[in-house]
Amino acid sequence: MVEKNLSPSHKDSSFFIQGNIFSHFKDRTAVLATKHGKERAIAPVLWESLGLRLTVSDKIDTDTFGTFAGDVERPASQFETAAIKATNCLALHPEAGLALASEGAFYPHPEVPFLTMNTEIVLLMGREPSLTIAGYHHSTETLATSEEIATTEELLDFANRLKFPEFGLILKVKTGEKHAIKKDLNSLASLLDAFRSLRSEHEKITVETDLRAHRNPLRMKMIGQAAADLVRRILATCPNCGYPDFVVKDFEKGLPCELCSLPTRLPLKDIKACGYCGFREEILFPKGEKAYAGHCDWCNP
Ligand SMILES: [Zn+2]
Ligand SMILES: [Zn+2]
Repeated sequence: MVEKNLSPSHKDSSFFIQGNIFSHFKDRTAVLATKHGKERAIAPVLWESLGLRLTVSDKIDTDTFGTFAGDVERPASQFETAAIKATNCLALHPEAGLALASEGAFYPHPEVPFLTMNTEIVLLMGREPSLTIAGYHHSTETLATSEEIATTEELLDFANRLKFPEFGLILKVKTGEKHAIKKDLNSLASLLDAFRSLRSEHEKITVETDLRAHRNPLRMKMIGQAAADLVRRILATCPNCGYPDFVVKDFEKGLPCELCSLPTRLPLKDIKACGYCGFREEILFPKGEKAYAGHCDWCNP
């Protein structure tokens, strides 16, 4: 692997005093916007790696920024929604210099549509100096599914397969624009009660996995992984100015084919670029010096 430093900064000032990233977080407290217990996944990671403490905001109802059950639409993209939550958190907590927010999304895998993807974002925002860094985790391990059912047998079968009550379930009926939703069902008795009450008025009930973090241990695990990615990015500081998040975010394709040497779509270079001063670093041949001919449009069209 060859590393090459390119074009130094268009800004001269340093973001942090060099080599001092830890002192920016150690023994400080960040406020987290959550009402779903996400501190359980995030706090240990930030404490162990950075010495950063977490408190949970009592002033933000994160459900107003969208819910998985579909009763409240998300106001913006996943990243923007996390940023809006963190911005609100800083605004409502003038005592805090750092805020955290987390946002999850479930969607069909772009290349294998029958698979469900889960992307988790854990975002850190700093007031002084102004700072926004997001950690990501992508997974196809989701337990996110739904079925239309009509009988208690079907309900119990679904509940068994989807690990209820360790994992939460939601019952809902959609009539026109309106949803009737039953959630926070913590026991088999409450699940059956809720089902019978909906079933007395409707033919078919939709049962689905509850994707809220506190009712979905798998999602909680993925949020912890996104927090770990956030720490990785915080500790990856720009060699020119000290701003965090100096990680590979882009690549240039064109790795030569092993047989004909024509450029393929595989990466020739990975590119790191600083979001603060613009400093760039290119990593040549990040995955080897030649592409397997199977990737070549000419040798293997
Ligand atoms: Zn070739
Ligand atoms: Zn920089």
